[in-house]
Amino acid sequence: MTKTTFAERVLKWFDHSGRTHLPWQQDRTAYRVWVSEIMLQQTQVATVIPYYEKFMTSYPTVQTLAEASEDAVLSHWAGLGYYSRARNLHKASKLVCADFNGEMPNTLDEMMQLSGIGRSTAGAILSLSQNQKHAILDGNVKRVLTRYHAVEGWPGKSAVLKQLWQLAEHHVPDKRNADYTQAMMDLGATLCTRSKPDCEQCPLHQNCQAYADGNPSNYPSKKPKKTIPTKEAVLLLVTHEDGSTLIEKRPPTGIWGGLWSLPQFEDEEKARNWLRQHFSETPIVFEHYAKITHTFSHFHLHAETYKVQLNTNYKTGIMEADAYLWYNNPHEFTGGFPAPIKKLLAPERTLL
Ligand code: SF4
Repeated sequence: MTKTTFAERVLKWFDHSGRTHLPWQQDRTAYRVWVSEIMLQQTQVATVIPYYEKFMTSYPTVQTLAEASEDAVLSHWAGLGYYSRARNLHKASKLVCADFNGEMPNTLDEMMQLSGIGRSTAGAILSLSQNQKHAILDGNVKRVLTRYHAVEGWPGKSAVLKQLWQLAEHHVPDKRNADYTQAMMDLGATLCTRSKPDCEQCPLHQNCQAYADGNPSNYPSKKPKKTIPTKEAVLLLVTHEDGSTLIEKRPPTGIWGGLWSLPQFEDEEKARNWLRQHFSETPIVFEHYAKITHTFSHFHLHAETYKVQLNTNYKTGIMEADAYLWYNNPHEFTGGFPAPIKKLLAPERTLL
């Protein structure tokens, strides 16, 4: 007896349980499938249907879409979100009219030249509208394949993605490609769902590795949390006896670029050296004041703040540099402070 293949099981299931009445499954032209595929990215079928029908009434062909204004196209998208999808669709329709004589491309490479169409979407359009043999790898298919083959690793990683494309290609049948593509989408959307997959009803459960291991929800692996380094710093809250605080302007580029902050150092020793260099006297107070933590996109900043109080009227020297200012009256100050520094200065202002 010949072994039933993955695709045969999926197609058999599709014949009795697949979805066949969705609006884009009627009159399946490449244009109609394309619009549906773009709308279905990030959006559920039930939400898409009324939008799709209205869109198709207004723009039944790629030419009508290309001739529409961007405002009009976007108004048809209002409520669906991710508006770059609509802008790309509109832009691509103009390209189809200009470079492809108004005909949707019919090869994978040409299809992928259109804005907003990646390999999976291009494969889906050509498979569903022309029964061409292409694999797809949307979120539903990734979920099914990672579970069925117990593929470890986050699918966003290129090595994992490569492996998944190989598996997707491997299972694609020579015949009934359109049905198979639709079946894989349906299987992922209705049975192999993100939480609580209905494995008992699934045509693949006999050979599904995750089902056998009892852990389908472990797949696909989640995106690893980004580990970003921590930088230590020391900030000086130098206060003068007249109540003003020394602030320093950050360089125009980089972290907090162009904003006003407190003099910042790598460590306490460098901070003390700087004080000695610019203020010949010994501070009457040098004490720990507060710790601030702040997360930037590529590092965490842990900064210890020391309060420094000077005991004379000495205010010159450092002021020759444009980057420093004695800050006293917040109402007269027009510069900007980063939020954590503003917080540090606020209690100080109320004390003075
Ligand atoms: S058996 Fe369960 S986990 Fe495996 S593919 Fe089917 S629904 Fe998904």
